[in-house]
Parts: sequence; structure tokens; C-alpha cells
Amino acid sequence: MELEMKQVTKCYGATLALDNFSYRFTEGVYGLLGPNGSGKTTMMNLMTTNLKPTQGSLLYDGEDIFSMGKEYRRLLGFMPQQQGVYPGYTLERFLWYMATLKGLSRQETKQSVENVVKRVNLEDCRNKRLGSFSGGMKQRALIAQALLGNPRLIILDEPTAGLDPRERIRIRNLIAEIAMEKIVILATHVVSDISYIAKEVLLLKKGRLIDSGVPYQISNTIADKVYELKVNKDELEQISAVYKVSSMREDGRDLYVRILSDDYPEEWDAAPCTPDLEDVYLYHFD
Ligand code: ADP
Ligand code: MG
Repeated sequence: MELEMKQVTKCYGATLALDNFSYRFTEGVYGLLGPNGSGKTTMMNLMTTNLKPTQGSLLYDGEDIFSMGKEYRRLLGFMPQQQGVYPGYTLERFLWYMATLKGLSRQETKQSVENVVKRVNLEDCRNKRLGSFSGGMKQRALIAQALLGNPRLIILDEPTAGLDPRERIRIRNLIAEIAMEKIVILATHVVSDISYIAKEVLLLKKGRLIDSGVPYQISNTIADKVYELKVNKDELEQISAVYKVSSMREDGRDLYVRILSDDYPEEWDAAPCTPDLEDVYLYHFD
């Protein structure tokens, strides 16, 4: 199973949203990481055939996804960004409705609804109205509809948007669980959503792929650029004026500031650190 994007460009009038993008996706979780406006949603709308590329092609196991039509959409589960729910629908009714749109038979729907409500841990809420759901429950309901019909290709656009840290972790774990023998592509601007679960991370900046690979490889690209400085509180302002500050901690007496710097910060008491994806994000996008 493979989804390939080949030299895909997408323009909206004069706006270049995706610029000559190529990538091959196989089984596993992919994290599409970039700030707002970097082209994540555009890419997902291309992968789901909601948009046509201005140039280039998208292939599923070598076949053009636009000529596969219905057959391709059967393989696909999609959770769009900022999707509303029907507040008056119960979860059960919402899932039946979505299954109908997907073209599942009654028998398939029955089994699939059973399966997906378990998966997202909303079995007890099947007969509750979506309007009464918390943010995290709504997101899980939307993930559930993406899983109907057991799709092999799952595309999730900012599935953790607006959630608190506990709910984020829960959704992250859920995504890791559903990923077996599937291609899961997840867009986010939050590093922690993907740093633990992504097989590969793709960094998008203004529609261009600026780096990609397994998280530690990407982190290694800034291996000699992360330092921890031991400073006084009154020196903090001076430091933030010169360096990108990734994080800081205090041990009661001293303040330690984690910074990014192309050169060794000689004027400070500095110790090199092992970079992580947060540092990479800050390095490219701050
Ligand atoms: P992201 O999902 O990473 O925030 P988008 O794919 O939504 O990025 O947007 C990429 C670029 O394309 C942005 O500059 C955005 O303003 C522009 N864009 C997105 N959708 C449209 C549209 N329908 N019409 C015009 N410009 C758009
Ligand atoms: Mg988006």
C-alpha cells in the first residue's frame, strides 16, 4: 500500500499554497508539521480528491486517485479541519448518517458503528446528543466517523485542535493504536501531537517541504545548535534579545535557559544539549 505525491503544485489564483511537493507514504503514522498557512490543509484536500492539483499527480498503488473515483474514496477516512457537528444528532445517528454518505450497507454500518464507538471509547455516549459533548468527545466522534468502513488511508487535519493537554494525549494514543497496517497522515502545528507517534515527520514551510524523516534524524540536523545557559534572572532579557529561547527551568537558585544558536555562545556558561523536535520547530518557524 502506497500513496505517492509527485511534483504536486497547487495555486489559488496568485497564491502558491503547495510548491512542487513530492513524497511517498506507506503504512504508518506521518506527521505533517508547519505553522498556519504552510499548506497542510491544501495537501490534505488534494489527497482526498476535494481539490485538484494545478500540476503534478497523486497515485495510490500506482494508479491516479482522480481516475479511481469511488473505489479510492472507499479506502479513505477523512477528518477535515474545524468540522462542525450536528448538535441535535445523537452519536449513533451521526455515525449512521456518515456511513450512508460513505455508501456502506446496513450490515456493514451496524458492525462498523459498533467497532468505531469502542475504538474511540464513546460506547456509553451513543445515545447522547453531540451538542452536549465536550471538545475532546466531539473530536473523538469526528475521528470515529473517519474510521467507518475500516479505511486503509486515514487523513486527519488538526485532530487535536482546541483540546486540553490530557485530551491531546488521549487522541495521540488513539491515533497510534489505529495505525496498524494503515497509512495515517496527521496535520498539526503542535509538535507534541506527533513527536512520539510519527514514523516520519514532514516539515512544511510556505508550501515547501523543508525537511522530512524519522524524528531523531530531523532533530539531528540541528545537533550543534542547542545549548543550555546558566544565567541570572536579570540576564534573561539580554538573552532573549539575542537567541531563540526554546525553554527554561529553575532549580531554586539558578536559571537555566535552553537556546538555539548557530555558534557556541562563548560569553555564557553554556552546555550543549541533544535537540528535540520542539527545538527544530522553533529553529525553522519562530
Ligand atoms: P495550513 O493548513 O497549513 O494552515 P492552508 O493549506 O490552509 O495551510 O493554506 C496554505 C496557503 O493557501 C495560505 O497562504 C492560505 O492563505 C492559502 N489558501 C488556502 N485556501 C485558500 C483558498 N480557498 N483560496 C485562496 N487561498 C487559499
Ligand atoms: Mg489547516
